[in-house]
This record gives sequence, C-alpha cells and structure tokens, in this order.
Amino acid sequence: MSELRVRFAPSPTGYLHVGGARTALFNWLLAKKQGGTFILRIEDTDVERSTKESVDAILDGMKWLGLEWNEGPFFQSDYFPLYKEYVQKLLDAGKAYKCYCSAEVLDAKRELAMKEGRKPKYDGTCRERSDQPEGPYVIRFKAPRDGATSFDDLIKGTITFPNEELDDLIIQRTDGTPTYNFCVVIDDATMKITTVIRGDDHVNNTPRQVQLYEALGFPVPQFAHVPMILGSDKARLSKRHGATSVIAYRDMGYLPEALMNYLVRLGWSCGDDEIFSRAEMVQKFDIGSIGRSASVFDPDKLNWLNAHYIKSCDPERLAHLLLPHLSSREITTLGGPDLVAVVKTLQERAQTLEEMAERAVFYYNAPTSYDDAALAKFDSSHLLAVFAAVTAKLAAVDVPDVSPIDALFKVVCSENGWKMGQVGQPVRIALSGGTQAPGIAEIVVVLGGTETIRRIEKMQGYLSGK
Ligand code: GLU
Repeated sequence: MSELRVRFAPSPTGYLHVGGARTALFNWLLAKKQGGTFILRIEDTDVERSTKESVDAILDGMKWLGLEWNEGPFFQSDYFPLYKEYVQKLLDAGKAYKCYCSAEVLDAKRELAMKEGRKPKYDGTCRERSDQPEGPYVIRFKAPRDGATSFDDLIKGTITFPNEELDDLIIQRTDGTPTYNFCVVIDDATMKITTVIRGDDHVNNTPRQVQLYEALGFPVPQFAHVPMILGSDKARLSKRHGATSVIAYRDMGYLPEALMNYLVRLGWSCGDDEIFSRAEMVQKFDIGSIGRSASVFDPDKLNWLNAHYIKSCDPERLAHLLLPHLSSREITTLGGPDLVAVVKTLQERAQTLEEMAERAVFYYNAPTSYDDAALAKFDSSHLLAVFAAVTAKLAAVDVPDVSPIDALFKVVCSENGWKMGQVGQPVRIALSGGTQAPGIAEIVVVLGGTETIRRIEKMQGYLSGK
C-alpha cells in the first residue's frame, strides 16, 4: 500500500448522480493506480435532508459500477464528539470564539452592507470580546484578516483568495452541532487523506478549509477540483437534461463498464483513445490529464459505447442482465427459446438492454398482429406459395445450425425462381410480426422448426381469413 489516501464523500440527500459517480471513479482510479486507499465517507451532518434510502442508493450505485472502497462507509453523524473536541481545541488556543450576535442583528447588518454596496461579511463584533453573556451563541473560527490563502490545485493550478474576503466561519451552531466545512477538515485530517478530489463547486470552500488545517496544525492535503458536467445547453447537468442517476442508467439497460468508460472520458483524456477497459483506465489514468473546462454530457456517445460493450459482452452474462428487462415486460423465458441463443442474435445491433429486451419479445410471444404495410408489398398468392414451400422444406429437416437453414432458403429460392428478399421478408414477418428482426436463418434456428412452422401456419390462416 502506498501513502496515498483518497476519499469520496457524498451527502446522502438523493441518489448517486453521474457527476458524483465520476468523482468517485477518479478517486478510485488514483487509489488503484498508486496502490493507495480509497475511503467512503457519508456526509450526513445535515440530519434533515439525509436519508437511509439515499445512503442505500449511493452504495448500490457504487457497487453496480464496481467502485469498491477499502475503508468505510464512515458516517459523519457518528463523529460529533470528535468534532466537539476539535472545536474546544480551537477555543482553548484562542483561534475560535463565541459569537452572541443574533440572527436579526446579523441580517440587519447584511442588508445594510448590501445597500451600501459593501460585501456582506461578519464584522467581527464578538471577535475580541472577553465577557460571557447569557444566551445562545455560535462558535466562529478566528480567520486571519490580512494576507491571502492559496493552494496549488492539481487541475486548476494555484488559486489564491485574499483573506479579507473570507469572514469568520461558524464552526458550531447554536444547537451545538458542527458545521459542514469544519467536519470535512477534521475528517480529512484524521482519516489522513492525502489528496482531495472533488467537484469544483467546492473551490470556494477550500481556502476556509486550508485556514482550518493550518490553525489546527494539520498537514494540508493536495486538492484536485474536477470541473462540472453540463447538459447540451451548457447549463449544469440536471434532471431537465434526462436521467442523472447512476441507477437510472442501470435500469435503462446500460452496462456498468460502458457508463464507467463514458464517465472516465468525461473530462479526462488519453490521446485519442475512447475505449478503456477497467485495467487500461487504471493503468493510464493521471490527474494531470483531467481538463480544466467543464464537459458536456453526450447521450449519443454513451449509447455508442454501450452498443460496443453489448456487442463484445459474453452472451451468458448479457442473458443474465437482460432478465429484469424481460420480466418488466412480463416475458418469461421458461418453455421458450434458450435466452443465450436469443441474445446472440440481438447483441450486434442493440444500444441498450431495454432495446434488446424489446426486440427479444417476439421470440417468447408469437406475434398477434403483423406489419400489414410490409405484407402489402407482396401478392397473397406469392405469400401463400412461399409459406407452403418453406414449411414443406422445414418439415423435412432438423434445425441444427444457421448455415443449413441459409442453404434451405437458397434452395427454396432457386427451385421457385424467387429472390431472397421475396422469401426472407414474408417469413420474417410471419415469425416476428415485423421487418426489424435479426437474420431469418438465425430466427429459425433459435425458434426451432416446430415453432417456426406453427407461426408460418398461423400466418397462412391470417392471410386466408383476409
Ligand atoms: N459532501 C460533499 C458533496 O456531496 C462533498 C464534500 C467534499 O468532497 O469535500 O458535495
């Protein structure tokens, strides 16, 4: 194990967002690459908004993506005594103080500052007070007033904030609970985090956190702030742009390796390469190649990657992954064709498992209606002749493999002077109801001779009744 310790620190106030998943992925990759430790910490100090369902959803999303962690999950809510201890340390060292200013007074001061065009910040009324009046108080950090606070961001370079812009941060509320920025520092320091990789919406928190590290005598970790993910209209990616939850992508039929591959390329690049196995990602990942600008979420590219991974996936695994998508369509595979064989006929052309499931339905449910417009391209007498010729030939053979069936269709064509399209298309409609199905020989092999003949006979009945 190397010294590197990274963490993913989601707040459990919703599902695992694709942006969060990408942050988790970058942390995981760095830990894997450097033989470091990846820690999962649930930031649930906001008791009102944090839920158990949300914790479960985050853990499910991470497990589905295969982002296994080495330590945790740790819950901030278990560490209140620890935070209190450090608040006390700052008080004892004179680096924090009790502030008795009421919310009303602070609001009035803020309003006045805004009216006068000044930046609204705490004016330090209680900073030097020595009395201990009765009544509620918060505890504020006594932030340095002069100079500047900087940090070298691994992605964005050096970032400097003048200290006069940062007011005295509240580290403990009137009810005695610690505040967010304080807990993050105590956790990152006590968990000995060496590199903090997180979304760049936290850049503004960082100088305050750096000041706290310094005041407490903790080493300051390295920071890497990852730019946001945007929707096609360049606004921050949100539900408005489509699904943003990792689990929604699972349910829409994306493979975890496709989403991982998509997310790693969203903001990170390695030459012109687009396809990365997990091992390649780990081997090639480096923080220095994360771009400085925001990335735009492109569903078409995700579909393209998903199609790639579906095509190259082991059919047995795909069959297993397809099952919930079939059940949601009330399709049972029992007594029907072998699902692995079905998958093999569909995996070349499906972008998602949902699409694959939709296309698999006809194998298990014989068509109850037909594409009449497609049928109308042929005379009824031609159709009936084709079906008679094909069933006669099929009845005489077993249906072992695609190539003999291909040969059988060729013989039917040559004996009757038909072109392949004049035979294949009508049979495809009889077997699947429509024209968008896999190769005709593949369908026949998967359905088997008896079922094929049964469906063609049903079609013959349908045509005769017309
Ligand atoms: N809990 C924060 C969030 O979900 C992350 C804080 C951090 O990574 O420092 O945005």
